[in-house]
Amino acid sequence: MPTELTLPRYMTRFRCIAERCEDTCCAGLKIPVSPSDARRMQPALAAHPAQAEHLRRCTGAEQDGGAGQTPFLPMHPDGTCAFLDPQRMCSLQRDHGEGALPDVCATFPRVVTARDGHWELSGSLACPEVVRLSLLAEDAMRPESLPFPSPLIPRPEAVRHLSRDPEEGYSFHAEPVREALLRVLDREEHPLATRLALLGQLAYAVDDFYFRGTDAFRGETRAGAEARLSEALQRFDSPEAREAVHREFSGLALPGGPCVGLFTQVVKARMAARGGRVREWGRSVLESLGLEVGGPEELDAAWSLYTQRWHALNAAQGPRLARYFHHYVAHFLWRTSFTEFPSLLAYVFRLALRVGLVRLMLMGHPKVVALLQEPSALETPEPLELAVVETVQTVAKHVEQSPEFISLTEGLAGTGRGAQTLGKVLVFASF
Ligand code: SF4
Repeated sequence: MPTELTLPRYMTRFRCIAERCEDTCCAGLKIPVSPSDARRMQPALAAHPAQAEHLRRCTGAEQDGGAGQTPFLPMHPDGTCAFLDPQRMCSLQRDHGEGALPDVCATFPRVVTARDGHWELSGSLACPEVVRLSLLAEDAMRPESLPFPSPLIPRPEAVRHLSRDPEEGYSFHAEPVREALLRVLDREEHPLATRLALLGQLAYAVDDFYFRGTDAFRGETRAGAEARLSEALQRFDSPEAREAVHREFSGLALPGGPCVGLFTQVVKARMAARGGRVREWGRSVLESLGLEVGGPEELDAAWSLYTQRWHALNAAQGPRLARYFHHYVAHFLWRTSFTEFPSLLAYVFRLALRVGLVRLMLMGHPKVVALLQEPSALETPEPLELAVVETVQTVAKHVEQSPEFISLTEGLAGTGRGAQTLGKVLVFASF
């Protein structure tokens, strides 16, 4: 067990706002039930025969090798958990206490990663309160340390540990690599697009020897690989190196319409699969960008509308917009370990794609459109904050983890390595 916990400052402020929340954590999500969850829930299930039968059937199918899949909590047809009562309260927690909940429910929206004795806590952007706290406050992403054990980690036994084998160079050097990514992000003299391009260039600089499963850090080649890694991580600390990337990158022209088309397909697929809140959100955003149909002309027109709105909003609210997106990227670097991806370049590509999607959806948000039509409304932060929170949370909860978005990412990134993937990072970075 560690003695200390590191977390961004906003997580010291997080409290679930329960009935004041605009969402319900479990609505629209699939909640896995592990064997230990099932044992923990057993006494409570006597009062819920229909749900108990569903779980018994799923678990039985898994044991028989029938479905071969993790059992999930049963859901109502509207996508809410079958344990949610008519007042939208969790009946398991209400009647049997926190101890009866599956790990995912007990810990959400907290996300803990543990590497050796170093534990880190952050939050899931699928929770609107986490989005508000992490993106809006100036100091939200400042690192803090708390003593361990901490009440902020309700189930330490459920924490997933990342391996840190010295021969496995990819994860062993993860910490200095992430620090270098954060240093590049903090160079706010360059626009975010340039900093995303710099992250791509940094990832490309180590792409031939620093990836999951690399042998470069084993045996005799280890010292050479470590020296190369260290040189590449420091390269972008130099203002000249950053300026060179900025100059080269600023001259690139993005094929806007086709990129808008890719995002539109994913959002439409989610609207069809989810309904309710997601369908309403997607419909209003796509309609405002003229994307209900989405032929080539509409895509180009939507791209042009998007860029006009983005420039207009930046002219009026540049510093605030810059802070939200800086925090969004910083949060990704905290929350998502790149070692979960086959390469650093694949990770940066996923990040650039997410930023592009959020920016497009935000510029289609009816509140943003209304703000741009009524410039005096831009003097108060609330409408823009509401639009940012709704966009980021909906994308995080309903789009980013969807099979459609994952297959788009994998299809575009290919092997996730090499000059082609870097090219695609640069395309989406300039979104
Ligand atoms: S989504 Fe977040 S704030 Fe809302 S009920 Fe769940 S944990 Fe609480």
